[in-house]
Amino acid sequence: MLQITMPLNFLGTVYREIRQALIDMADMFGLLDQPPEVKDKPGAPALQVRQGVLRFEDVEFGYGDGRQILKGVSFEVPAGGTLAIVGATGAGKSTIGRLLFRFYDVTGGRITIDGQDLREVTQQSLHEAIGVVPQDTVLFNDTIRYNIAYGREGASQHDIETVARAASIHRFIESLPEGYDTQVGERGLKLSGGEKQRVGIARTLLKNPPILLLDEATSALDTGTEREIQGELKAMGHGRTVISIAHRLSTIADADQIIVLDEGEIAEAGTHADLLDRSGLYNALWSRQAQDVGSLAAE
Ligand code: ATP
Repeated sequence: MLQITMPLNFLGTVYREIRQALIDMADMFGLLDQPPEVKDKPGAPALQVRQGVLRFEDVEFGYGDGRQILKGVSFEVPAGGTLAIVGATGAGKSTIGRLLFRFYDVTGGRITIDGQDLREVTQQSLHEAIGVVPQDTVLFNDTIRYNIAYGREGASQHDIETVARAASIHRFIESLPEGYDTQVGERGLKLSGGEKQRVGIARTLLKNPPILLLDEATSALDTGTEREIQGELKAMGHGRTVISIAHRLSTIADADQIIVLDEGEIAEAGTHADLLDRSGLYNALWSRQAQDVGSLAAE
């Protein structure tokens, strides 16, 4: 009996992990129709994350249509550090996220985590090591408990409540007549953008990954909720290596490092203060966004 159930349980866990990772990533990067194109090497070992140092080394990449999208991108995020990626639409920001998750293989250079080339380790172990908080968290037609517990199989109610508290959603859940048993998703209670995001944060906290990939997730939220969620995302980043793909600059000003991508190349890199001083692309993006905010406020 043991011999039969153990592999099945194991497969269950693998399937669940992969499914979750793929759903989150697919959601994040609009890849719902695209199966992953890469395969594990035979006998590939699992990724061992000891510190969480992430390196892109002269990474080249194109989607196979003859157009080069990333042209020699290099950066290092130290263990526990945060890197924000900004740049105009189409610059290649989300592509960096897809490569980190190994949805595609680089066509030149390499990506490593603690010195291990992503192509040499299993995708399952890679996906376990990276938590994704997408713009729009996918909810399953199930209870809110299930939707949070999805971050880790076998999580206890105590664990679930702990992460729900950290994501500031516990009190809301408790206020519902059926509490954690409330059905959510398409056929259940419709959660607001901010509530969904908090479920996503709770789910990721439960998974407890050493590396976080944030697709700056707050565009659909009002300013107050955005600020609160930023606080929660920041708290979640403590002690983890974080890559944040930013569409709005206001949220990444305190990243340890910011890179500005321009047509697949790093045009500028530094802290917010460094980059503002430089009167280059970042400065221009910043001024333009400040103007947009000003004109919105005036409307
Ligand atoms: P945005 O801020 O608008 O999301 P981005 O900087 O994240 O933009 P990417 O999504 O990385 O940009 O896209 C970079 C380039 O790669 C774009 O020109 C895009 O058209 C192209 N691209 C993205 N996905 C694919 C794909 N699956 N096949 C071919 N080209 C693609």
